[in-house]
Amino acid sequence: MRQHLQLLRILPTRTHLIAISACVLFFAGAMLLPSSDVAANKQQSITLKAPKSDTAAPQQLAPIPKPISATPAATTASPAKTTLAMVTPIEQPKAVAAPTAVAPAAKAAEPEQPAEEWLSIQIRSGDNLTTLFKKAGLGPNQLYPMLNGIKPSKALARLKPGQSLEFLIEQGELIKLRHITSPLTQTLVSRSDDSYKIEAIEFTPEITHSYRQGTIEDSLFLSASDAGLSQTKIMELAGIFGWDVDFVLDIRKGDSFEVVYEERWLDGKKIGEGNIVAAEFVNQGNAFQAIRYTDSNGDSNYFTPEGKSMRKAFLRTPVDFTRISSRFNPNRKHPIFKTKRPHRGVDYAAPTGTPIKSAGDGKVIFAGRKGGYGKVVIVQHGQKYTTLYAHMSRIKPGMKRGKRVKQGNTIGYVGSTGYATGPHLHYEFRLNGVHRNPLTVKLPQAAPLPKKEMNRFKQQAAEHLAMLEGYRQTQLAKN
Ligand SMILES: [Zn+2]
Repeated sequence: MRQHLQLLRILPTRTHLIAISACVLFFAGAMLLPSSDVAANKQQSITLKAPKSDTAAPQQLAPIPKPISATPAATTASPAKTTLAMVTPIEQPKAVAAPTAVAPAAKAAEPEQPAEEWLSIQIRSGDNLTTLFKKAGLGPNQLYPMLNGIKPSKALARLKPGQSLEFLIEQGELIKLRHITSPLTQTLVSRSDDSYKIEAIEFTPEITHSYRQGTIEDSLFLSASDAGLSQTKIMELAGIFGWDVDFVLDIRKGDSFEVVYEERWLDGKKIGEGNIVAAEFVNQGNAFQAIRYTDSNGDSNYFTPEGKSMRKAFLRTPVDFTRISSRFNPNRKHPIFKTKRPHRGVDYAAPTGTPIKSAGDGKVIFAGRKGGYGKVVIVQHGQKYTTLYAHMSRIKPGMKRGKRVKQGNTIGYVGSTGYATGPHLHYEFRLNGVHRNPLTVKLPQAAPLPKKEMNRFKQQAAEHLAMLEGYRQTQLAKN
């Protein structure tokens, strides 16, 4: 029997960190042994290490963002420009100096124009054009001619708290007014003599790439956030490799990751993050690479450099690890059974109520109580595969024989019914009726790229891999 010592890892939920712990114990070659009941947690339990911030050793460099171009694209219809060049990092684009607190977005690209002094007023709840004009020091004599002068005045009627209204006033006269609806959209009203013009303006952000890399000490989450990745990006990274790597059980100290992702810039300001375009994850010495590809229909997915889908017919981890919120309890009670019995699945320790997901598309063939399994759901996937989820506290209502489920659908909730000493998911994977180790079984791949996409894919893949390699070299040179 082999036991896997696990370090505790933590992963984020939307709002807070959560700790996960679990243990895996299985018989090598369990599939050769006669099938039997479930031996809940009778194998030795494993002590997990609690996360301590002071043990999160500083990661290797967290490279700074490298916006590649300093020129904000302030045109309307031009498509997002993706800069692929591996140029030397230059300084972050600087906001054009503006005398007011607001950098004039539309004007940034035309520095030859004299700086305009815009007055920016934050819209608060209860505000309307009258109150906002008043705050700007303008009376109805400025507001009403403008409202009469612009035809679709509706555009200015939808004022939302948090947005801003900006005024360009000269000698007490309103010259221009703009309603900033988002970093990329605004409505501009301009006056010349006594006529008014209203226009919707859209900005195209400059897309640059950012590179982050790190080596895992304690957990993916800690190391990746030390490397400067946002929570969202960490979850995306885990999602991309989640079919190959079990982020609950597979992660080891020394595993490493590299990510290239997009950043959106406007007028020298970072306005958001874009997609991960290329990434590598090294897990226990195995390197996985993923490349984002948008096909000719506009659908985006991640593929290996060879064009195989990163998605598999099965999820590696059937518990929603983002919601596991309690730490492993090293003082938990000893297993029920003292005798040696084969363990034909994997146990994921998780709090009662944690959602359990169907590992793949399929059909429920059993949902109910079954001996030591307690409340259990068995799903059939195609002809060859079945997966089993035991010890549920609750089977999701509606799960019954014949019910179709999609990959990732919640089918029940973690519990400790049957022979279980504490709440956990006991997960089994069977191929042609034979138990296989869910952690190592080769999972069937989702559909690969169609042939007609291959040329385009190869080109994009080569560019993205070159980008990853370029950043890596730059990084090495710096060390
Ligand atoms: Zn088990």
